[in-house]
Amino acid sequence: MIFVTGGAGFIGSNFVLHWLAEHGEPVVNLDALTYASGPHNLAAIRDDRRHVFVHGDILDRALVDRLLAQHRPRAIVHFAAESHVDRSIHGPEAFLRTNVEGTFTLLEATRAWWQRLPDTERRAFRFLHVSTDEVYGSLEPDAAPFTEASPCRPNSPYAASKAASDHLVRAWHHTYGLPVLTVHCSNNYGPFQYPEKLIPLVLVNALAGEPLPVYGDGRHVRDWLYVEDHCRALCAVLASGQPGATYNVGGGNELGNLELVQRLCALLDELRPDAAGPHARLIRFVADRPGHDRRYAVDAGKLRRELGWQPRETLDTGLRKTVQWYLDHPDWITRAKDEAWQAWIARHYAPGT
Ligand code: NAD
Repeated sequence: MIFVTGGAGFIGSNFVLHWLAEHGEPVVNLDALTYASGPHNLAAIRDDRRHVFVHGDILDRALVDRLLAQHRPRAIVHFAAESHVDRSIHGPEAFLRTNVEGTFTLLEATRAWWQRLPDTERRAFRFLHVSTDEVYGSLEPDAAPFTEASPCRPNSPYAASKAASDHLVRAWHHTYGLPVLTVHCSNNYGPFQYPEKLIPLVLVNALAGEPLPVYGDGRHVRDWLYVEDHCRALCAVLASGQPGATYNVGGGNELGNLELVQRLCALLDELRPDAAGPHARLIRFVADRPGHDRRYAVDAGKLRRELGWQPRETLDTGLRKTVQWYLDHPDWITRAKDEAWQAWIARHYAPGT
């Protein structure tokens, strides 16, 4: 049994589906079902007895204690987080609560339980913390990608809260010997991503003929990774990572935001030829995000060398699959575009500014 937190979110639900398909080992999945989650993402395993879904908060210490005692997981994979930079700028408190205090609660519950395990189980146990490349801060245009040795210089409240959680995880290893692993991944994309993040936002707006917002000059660079390649990296780290180590995960696919949106539009033009004109006509530049980091990119060489991981998708194949998935799932899009989503989009973007 493994214990996943945040397994109804974008990466978490992809991970749970991947894990059950590839490994078959049962999963207990604790998720608070916040606005970003999609319990329907897990519809394919609704009747699968290997998946135990628990609606609850990682801050609920009594609940976490009970789940650990009841299920005796051999590993925890910790995804649960507030994950959207823009929301962290408008309301950082929730980020401190879940990302920092929540990770602390989970670590403390885990430590108390883990310390009482018999020797062999205690040695075999792993706590895998899913973190982001944003903790490294912004990369200069011609600088080499961040390595695991790069300093931690978070710039947004989201990145700062994730960096704080990374430090807690590191300290629980150093001080208490908890066998932790931390992964810093670049921007993920693929099925089930809540349409506040760039790629799904562009796709759902383009399908509705709505404006496609691009921040500032559109030249902010990100390294993109197909979500299933991230899931495979997490499985590799869980299986063979060195306790206490950190691993960068990235696709080596750096692209400016405007160029990315143009590629999505070109794919939509090809896959949806009946649309009313080229999709790129919908692109609108909007006021930049405050403190917007110019560039993120990580060097995933350690993961490749030590654990033999390689991404399977190129940016071309991954984007094509993703566009096709959103085209094939209009019901998922309708559900995601609820009142709360519409209110956020209306409040947040001012197209044409
Ligand atoms: P997401 O926002 O799609 O999902 C987060 C999930 O966590 C949701 O299902 C939500 O209900 C759950 N959750 C939030 N607060 C909770 C709480 N207090 N208790 C229990 N569950 C709670 O996020 P995501 O994009 O899937 O990201 C997952 C993890 O991966 C995060 O830790 C994020 O920092 C990290 N990460 C994301 C990316 C990316 O590109 N999306 C890249 C690198 C790392």
